[in-house]
Order: sequence, then C-alpha cells, then structure tokens
Amino acid sequence: MARFVGDYHTHSNYSDGKATIDEIITAAKRRGLREVAITDHGPRNLVGGLKSPEKLLEVAREIQDINETLEDFKVLSGVEANIIGERGQIDVPPEIYEKLDLLIIGLHPLVLADSLGNFWNLVLKNQARQLLKIGNSQVANFNTKTLAEACIKHQPFAISHPGLGMPIDISEVARVCAQNGVAYEINCGHLFQTPGELKVAAREGVDFVINSDAHFTETVGNLEPGLDLAMKAGIDKGKIKNLLN
Ligand SMILES: [Zn+2]
Ligand SMILES: [Zn+2]
Repeated sequence: MARFVGDYHTHSNYSDGKATIDEIITAAKRRGLREVAITDHGPRNLVGGLKSPEKLLEVAREIQDINETLEDFKVLSGVEANIIGERGQIDVPPEIYEKLDLLIIGLHPLVLADSLGNFWNLVLKNQARQLLKIGNSQVANFNTKTLAEACIKHQPFAISHPGLGMPIDISEVARVCAQNGVAYEINCGHLFQTPGELKVAAREGVDFVINSDAHFTETVGNLEPGLDLAMKAGIDKGKIKNLLN
C-alpha cells in the first residue's frame, strides 16, 4: 500500500534530469503513487535550467496529451523557479506559471540574478562567505528575506529544500510559509535536513510536503526517508500534505 498520494518535485530531461516524462510516470506508478509533478528548473539556473520560460508551456501541453492517455494517474505540470532578486523576483513570469498546475520556488547557488547587486548577495556572498569572512547570519538574513517575499508575492505550492547550502532563518521562513499556505519541503534528494531543523519549522504550524527532487527514475517517489525524518522530528502526519491518511 502506498502511503503517499504523489511526488511533487521531479526533474525530467528537459532540464538536468535524466529521464523522460514517460519514464518518470512509469517509475511513479511502480511506487504506487497516483500523481507526479514535473518541475524542471527555471531558465536562470546556470546548471541545467530550461531554455526559456515559454518551454514550460510546451511541456505542459505534452503533459496534457499524456494525461488523456492515462487512467487512475495524473501528471502535473510545474516548475522549480529560481529566486533571482532581493524582493522575491523569480525567473518565471506569472503569465507562465499561472498556466501550470504547480509552482515551486527555491534558492539555488548558481543563478543568473536580475542585477549585479543581487548577484553579489545571492550568489557570491553565499558561495564565498567563508573566504570573504561574511557571517552566516548576514547571508541568512538576505536569503530569508528573498524567500519570504517570494512566498508572499507568488504564493507557490511549496518552497524547495529550504536551507540547502544557503543558510536561512528556519522559523521565520516557516512562519511566512504557514501564513501564506506554502508547503515547507522535506527534500529526499539531498536529505540534508535534521529532525531538529524540522522541529523548528513545525513549531510555526507550517504544512510539509515530502518530495524526491528526483533527477533519475530510480529515485522518483522515494519518499520514505523523508517520512522517517518527519517522524523523528515528531511532525503530525496530518501536517504532511502528500501523505495518505
Ligand atoms: Zn532545487
Ligand atoms: Zn529540484
């Protein structure tokens, strides 16, 4: 018996994933899921982003055609957009993401920011903070502000891997997520989160989603490690959006 409804964060070979959408579907079905979302990287991710935001609409049309051939299974069109500016700017415009089923927003270390100032704060300061002797808290303040503003401005379904390689104030991010109905991701692809961190997020009353962030068929729907982590953190199962009751 599957314990999860779906996996809402996977990458196909349209960005830096290795599998086709068909292969992702087969893998998700094998895990007993009912849904899977294809959430390729937004175009300003310097490591394997989509060619353009418009490509997302092409992929969404392909997904629509595939869905017509499926029974008891649904593929969702989505994107993992990159934060590219201090005020929560992302690399996918609303007129595009509003046509998709699902928007995920994440901080990524190698993005083409929308200005030199934002490149300095988002990319260089995060990457070279030890070299530049910049305190973690200064970097975390900036990261937290961008994530919070992105949640307020774009109301995504979830934020991906909060805190991965880019420090954040977990309780502040979780608080803003909770206020805006944004799910806080437990990411099984990187498995970097600790029960302690998740406890801090849970205290804010936020909902969680456990995602694979799969780039290969083997890991699509591999959500159990995230559930183990959530249980260690004492998270109420009712707060996990993609868990079957
Ligand atoms: Zn990501
Ligand atoms: Zn991802």
